[in-house]
Amino acid sequence: MSALVIYNGKIYVERGHFEEAVLVEDGIIKAVGSTEGILAAAPEGARRYDAAGRTVVPGFNDSHQHLQSVGEDLANIQLLGADSIAEVKRRVRAYIEKNQPAPGTVLHGQGWNQDYFTDEKRVLVRQDLDDMAPEHPLILERACGHILTASTSALEMAGITGDTKPADGGAIDLDEQGVPTGVLRENACQQVLCIIPPVTEEIMDDRLRLAMAHAAECGVTSVQSMDMRPGKWRRTWEAYQRVQAKDPTLRVYQQVNFLEPNEFNEFLSEGFRTGVGDAFLKIGPLKMFVDGSLGARTALMRKPYNDDPSTCGIPTMTQEGLDEMVRIATEHGCTSIVHAIGDGAIDMVLSAYEKVIKNGENPLRHGIVHCQITDMPMLERFKKSDILALVQPIFLHYDMTVVEDRVGKELASTSYAFETLRKLGVHESFGTDSPVEDMNAINNLYCAVTRKNLKGEPSEGFYPEECMDIYDAVDAYTYESAYASFEENVKGRIKPGYYADMVVLSQDIFTIPGDEIINTKVDATIVDGRFVYER
Ligand SMILES: [Zn+2]
Repeated sequence: MSALVIYNGKIYVERGHFEEAVLVEDGIIKAVGSTEGILAAAPEGARRYDAAGRTVVPGFNDSHQHLQSVGEDLANIQLLGADSIAEVKRRVRAYIEKNQPAPGTVLHGQGWNQDYFTDEKRVLVRQDLDDMAPEHPLILERACGHILTASTSALEMAGITGDTKPADGGAIDLDEQGVPTGVLRENACQQVLCIIPPVTEEIMDDRLRLAMAHAAECGVTSVQSMDMRPGKWRRTWEAYQRVQAKDPTLRVYQQVNFLEPNEFNEFLSEGFRTGVGDAFLKIGPLKMFVDGSLGARTALMRKPYNDDPSTCGIPTMTQEGLDEMVRIATEHGCTSIVHAIGDGAIDMVLSAYEKVIKNGENPLRHGIVHCQITDMPMLERFKKSDILALVQPIFLHYDMTVVEDRVGKELASTSYAFETLRKLGVHESFGTDSPVEDMNAINNLYCAVTRKNLKGEPSEGFYPEECMDIYDAVDAYTYESAYASFEENVKGRIKPGYYADMVVLSQDIFTIPGDEIINTKVDATIVDGRFVYER
C-alpha cells in the first residue's frame, strides 16, 4: 500500500469548512482532520508532505478543451504573444537550436498576429521565413488559424506557383510580378499544410504526454477533452489508451464529435457509450457545434449583429439535424453537449433538449458549451430543464473588447452571465477551451471572480454584478466539472472516498483580494495520491 499525508495545510473541504491535514491510501482519500490526528492515524512508511500553511484545493477539472491540439501546439513552434517580427525569428531559431531537426524537415508553428508587432505591423511573407530557417521548409499559421505564411521552400515542396489555382473559398496571395508572397488564406491553407508528414503513433503519444505535463503544471488533474473527431476517432482513442496504460497523470473524459448519424451509429454499434472506460480514460458525451465565434461574427444571433446588420452569423447544423442527433444520443443513454455561442444557437440547442427532457429532469446531463450571448428568459430555460452550462470565464479577457459592439449593451448586460446561472441553480462548470486559451486555471478563476482582463481592466470589472465569489468559482471548476462527467461522488472534493487529486497553491485564494488571485502559483499537483508536478 502507498500512503501520503499532507499536513499543516489549509485544506478546502467546502464553503466555510477547512481542515489541516489529509490522509491518502492507494490513491483514495481516507480521512481529513487536524494535523495531529491525521499524523497519528498515518500508517508506517507514509510519505509526509508539510504544506507549510499553504492552501490545498481539489485538482482543477477543465470541463471543455482539446488536449490533443494542446500537445500539437506545444510540439510546434509557439508564436502566441510574439510582439515583433524579430521575436518570431528569435523563437524559430530557438526551436531549431533546441530540437535540431534534420535539414529539409518541415517545421510548423502557429500563433503570430501582426496587430501585436511593434517593429513592422504587416503580415509575414515568405522572405521573412526564408531568413528565419534557411535549411527547413517552414509554415507559420496566424493565431486565427485562417491565414498562414509559407517559406519559399515550403511553397516549392507543395508545388505552389503563381499559376496554382486556390481551393474554393481560399486565396493564394501574389505580388506585383505574379509570384506567391507566401500568404495563403482560408481553404487554400490546406494546399501547403499537406506537406507536413502524417504523425506516427509514437509522435501522437509523445504529444499527448507533453500536453498532460502542461496540465499538471497548471494544477489540472482532469480534462474533458474533445479530440475524437469524424474519420479519426478510433486512432485518437487508441493513442489515449496507450498513453494511459503506461503512466497516467491526468484523468481524461472524451467529448466525441460526430456531425451526422451514420458514423455516430457505427460508434454506438461497437458498444461505445458515455461512461465506458475507467478512472483515467472514459468516453464522455457526443459533442456537436451549431455556430462559430463572436470574434468572426459567425456566432448565430436571433437578430442581426449590432456592428454588421447584414449578418446574423452562420448555423452549422439545421434544427432537424440537431434534434435527430440528440434523439439518437438520448436513446442510447449518451449525454450530448453542443457548442453554442450566439443567442440564436443557444435557443436552437435549448429547443432540441426541451424535446427530450421531461418534467425538468435531465438524467443524461445534456449540456451547452460556451453559453455566451444570453437573455434572462433563456437563462431560466437552462434551470427549467436542468441543462448544464460548460463555460470559459477566461474568454472574457478578449471578448469584453468586442461583445458590446457585436450585440449592443442591452444584450451584453445579460451575457456571460456566470453568476446569474449559478444563482438560478444551474449546474455550471469551468473550462478553458485550450488551446484557444491557455489551460492556466489561475487566470480562469481570476476572470470569473474579477471580470477583468489579464491586465486588470476595466478597474470595476465587466458587468461586475456577474462576478462570482471564490468559493463558487472553485466549486464550478472542481465539483461541478465532476458533475458534468457523473463523477461528483469521487471527484472534485477533498473528502473521504474521493480520488486523491489535489493542488497546493502558493497563496490563500480564499482570503486575498480578487485582483491578487492572478499572482498565485501552482506549487504542487497530486493525482491519484502521487505528485505529478512540483514547482
Ligand atoms: Zn472547443
